[in-house]
Amino acid sequence: MDFFKEKIETLKAAGVYRKLPINDGPCEAEIMLDGKKVINLSSNNYLGFANHPRLKQAAKDAIDHYGVGAGAVRTIVGNMTIHEQLDQVIARFKREEAAVVFQSGYNVNVGVIQAITTKDDLLISDELNHASIIDGVRLSSASRAVFKHSDMEDLKRVLEENKDQYQHTFILTDGVFSMDGDLAKLPEIVKLAKSYGAFTYVDDAHGSGVLGDRGRGTVDHYHLHGQVDFIVGTLSKAIGVVGGYVCGSKEMREWLLHRGRPLLFSTALMPSAAAAIIEAFNMLESSSEYTDKLWDNGRYFKQKLSQLGLDIGHSETPITPIMIGDEALTMKFSKDLLSRGVYVSGIVFPTVPKGKGRIRCMVSALHTKKELDQAIDIIESSAKSLKII
Ligand SMILES: *Cc1c(COP(=O)(O)O)cnc(C)c1O
Repeated sequence: MDFFKEKIETLKAAGVYRKLPINDGPCEAEIMLDGKKVINLSSNNYLGFANHPRLKQAAKDAIDHYGVGAGAVRTIVGNMTIHEQLDQVIARFKREEAAVVFQSGYNVNVGVIQAITTKDDLLISDELNHASIIDGVRLSSASRAVFKHSDMEDLKRVLEENKDQYQHTFILTDGVFSMDGDLAKLPEIVKLAKSYGAFTYVDDAHGSGVLGDRGRGTVDHYHLHGQVDFIVGTLSKAIGVVGGYVCGSKEMREWLLHRGRPLLFSTALMPSAAAAIIEAFNMLESSSEYTDKLWDNGRYFKQKLSQLGLDIGHSETPITPIMIGDEALTMKFSKDLLSRGVYVSGIVFPTVPKGKGRIRCMVSALHTKKELDQAIDIIESSAKSLKII
């Protein structure tokens, strides 16, 4: 298998080869990474739910009642009371008619997009959409078009050029773009969709649990309930567990229970995960303390980094990139930070376009001001030593 060796050599030559870091313990603000205590600025555990005692207890109780595995796909005998309950909890929390849970957010996009489209349809996708949307589009037999990132003129051009040629047209977008932290222009997208008779499909993986009333998401943030046709979310980021879902009409849910392939061909979510997720939604419903703390930390951290003269892009959420550009320098920066006690992963091609390397800081509700200050000091000295500032 020499062809792998050659490929790996090219990664090494480009300075982007890496080993997977190993975290020996729960996902917390400080973690033991490769045997060394570091401040964790890389997880999607926005609200600190991944190791929360209430979620852990709910999972343990569910193991006692249901066991550790669902035993089958949802469409055979893997559909337990707790999965049905979870669908309902999500629909209620999101203020949508119905929801259906999949094993991950990735599975939702690869399963749903193909299930709701035919070869007579058109999928129009933002150029910066998440890889799982891209893969979902690849599995669909519909025609495809791409519009420039959040460029409404360009979206309008694509809609206009393809007018009256397809049975159904779908506009697909991330709600929050995960590598830059900017929001989709949903009110304008919805307006365009209405005037061209298109459906809207929003993947709100980074908006759920973060934006809107107590984390109800980007659709809630923009007061667009009832106006987005397909709302996708993940249960592995702010919710801290694992799984994904899509909200929409009751009929959509029924159709997906027949044709959503990950529901038919991959075992249902662990019942313990479903129970922990339900507890997370209960906590979000009853208090805004988690989302408030997340935003407070995010604002504080972003303000301090800008004051240092770092380019933090145009994020509108707690996601805080530090733009570097050069890929090798990006990876060097990330490595240097780790040696000084802060873990921030470097993000390079293929996750972002070539030449748009960045480190991406993920602040959470778990971080104390002291930990953030410590991280900021370390980022400053590392950036100075690498002549980034
Ligand atoms: C993370 C992410 C996913 C995948 O979610 P998982 O539940 O981790 O599979 C899907 N879409 C977007 C936009 C994401 O950021």
